[in-house]
Amino acid sequence: METDISRIKRLSEKKEDENWGFRAFLKGFDMPLKKMDRIVHRLYKQISSQIDCTKCANCCREIQIGLYKEDIKKLSKGIEISAEQFRKRYLAKGGEAGEFIFKEKPCPFLNNNLCSHYNYRPKVCRSYPHLHKNDFVFRLIGVIQNSSVCPIVFNVYEHLKAELWNVNDFD
Ligand code: SF4
Ligand code: SF4
Repeated sequence: METDISRIKRLSEKKEDENWGFRAFLKGFDMPLKKMDRIVHRLYKQISSQIDCTKCANCCREIQIGLYKEDIKKLSKGIEISAEQFRKRYLAKGGEAGEFIFKEKPCPFLNNNLCSHYNYRPKVCRSYPHLHKNDFVFRLIGVIQNSSVCPIVFNVYEHLKAELWNVNDFD
């Protein structure tokens, strides 16, 4: 298993064509969606149990996440400022239509690898790296993008290649 984030970044660049090739393979692969999801969920459980997110925090450093109205409401309430002040201080327009992103990267709430407002963190932070969700095969572009940022995603995708495509770089 690869957990070194610099190596993961380099490997992801090197593997770009392979990653897209595997996506094309999965898109045409004759396997029921639910069965594929079960495999991904199993790998996700297995791999995330071996990775300590508090020693990584790379998603909070590298991704300018999207915040929706409800996220802004919750976070601003949590840190006791108005939604307007919160928007001015921390956010910029970006992402999908009508969405905001944090102005800065790393996230301004990241403190010593921990989220300083964990209980109020946005919905997308709670869900990341999204591998517990269903319909994996329809979310492969995001998976490939996240595989260069998140060791969990990188390793799940690599293990999936080994299981379904007989490509194994772990030896
Ligand atoms: S709000 Fe917290 S969990 Fe979300 S990106 Fe910022 S530091 Fe990370
Ligand atoms: S979700 Fe991925 S990128 Fe984020 S802290 Fe955990 S291992 Fe690191």
